[in-house]
Amino acid sequence: MSRYYNKDLLKEKLELEQIYDLLDLWGGEPEYTDGGLIATTICHNPPGLGSRKLYYYQNTQLCHCYSGCAEPSFDIFELCIKVMKIQKNLDWELYDAMDFIASYFGFEGTSVNQQSNELEDWEIFKRNIELPPPIVVPILQEYNSNILSRFAYPRIEAWEQEGITKEVQHRNLIGYYPVEEQIVIPHFDINNRLIGIRGRYLSDYYAERYGKYRPLHIMNKEYSHPLSMNLYNINNSKEAIRKSKIAIIFESEKSTLQYQSYYGYNNDISVACCGSNLSYYQVNILRDLGVNEIIIAFDRQFQKRYDDEYQKLINKLTSIYNKYKNMVKVTIIFDKDMITPYKASPTDIGPEVFEKLLKERIIL
Ligand SMILES: [Zn+2]
Repeated sequence: MSRYYNKDLLKEKLELEQIYDLLDLWGGEPEYTDGGLIATTICHNPPGLGSRKLYYYQNTQLCHCYSGCAEPSFDIFELCIKVMKIQKNLDWELYDAMDFIASYFGFEGTSVNQQSNELEDWEIFKRNIELPPPIVVPILQEYNSNILSRFAYPRIEAWEQEGITKEVQHRNLIGYYPVEEQIVIPHFDINNRLIGIRGRYLSDYYAERYGKYRPLHIMNKEYSHPLSMNLYNINNSKEAIRKSKIAIIFESEKSTLQYQSYYGYNNDISVACCGSNLSYYQVNILRDLGVNEIIIAFDRQFQKRYDDEYQKLINKLTSIYNKYKNMVKVTIIFDKDMITPYKASPTDIGPEVFEKLLKERIIL
């Protein structure tokens, strides 16, 4: 049965994060900046080409192309129509774009009888073509894994002290790149293809300049990948996740390494989203494995209850819950009693504390 949408209501429902997701989905490599979201000009170029001149402004809910579009201002539905034409040669109309976006985020449409009184307010469009499945996880570019032979693989004692055994370090090819004093973390996709390499700076000098984590740069080549299109450790944990139908999602790679160290490879159901955003791609990777519960296990990013960071974290977790609750059961580890330190991951203080947090996780 067709569903019907009110364009303005649907637009209002879309949060900035969801616009980010869509730009990401369409290959625009979006980035949050003070001036709004910035992406490549997927409005008139295929993904991967074009300059970073497509802006999205939250206050007007409009995209603006500062390069090649004849009519430079358009909303997210018009962008969707442009993208479908360029990338799939589909001739979509407004209805198709609204239906695609609503389905993608699990928003309900309205059926005909529900809206009979307000009929005039609603733009009604007939679905005129079959929609492709809304979420397709793209196959990411693969890097030649020979590069991994160029790193040193010493014992990283700082990590051993944090509960990551040297066996787990070896198994995950955690290395060291002396040129920039970085711990090397190779990222693989679910089929064990090398899709990126992240470096974790050991020296404060670099960490303060570039941030703790950064894609590795070697001889002018950057080993980056779109973090939101993969889950770190999924190559290791996929079988146990498939069996248990549960996955635990941490923010950082290190937490999954701790998890393996505590519970062994066969019991490993951990992945990392590598940031504090969870994308549709990532949830979909887990759904494809038949998962019926995802456990969000983010860091304790607040100093005390009810401070600003506390509120921010609650908002973030709530938005993740609302975004995915129609797709999968979402439960949340939340250290409200602060038994882990500020900014710690739930696994940082050892398995006992983790298990307590896990047992007391929020199940809505
Ligand atoms: Zn354009």
